[in-house]
Amino acid sequence: MTKHLQKCKNCNEYGLANSESKCRYCGGQLISPKPPKFSLIDKYGKYRLQYFKENFNTENENTEK
Ligand SMILES: [Zn+2]
Repeated sequence: MTKHLQKCKNCNEYGLANSESKCRYCGGQLISPKPPKFSLIDKYGKYRLQYFKENFNTENENTEK
């Protein structure tokens, strides 16, 4: 089961994936969006970057130069 957001092929609205893959706005087909360029998922990009930085710092501490 995927809980990802899917995108309507028809009206480009985002919706939660459901068993019918149907857009709740227009009844169109929901598809998994291609690599996200904007929207909600971008927010997570920031967190990911933050996380990455923290990891990076930790690694630096381990490999003191
Ligand atoms: Zn739609």
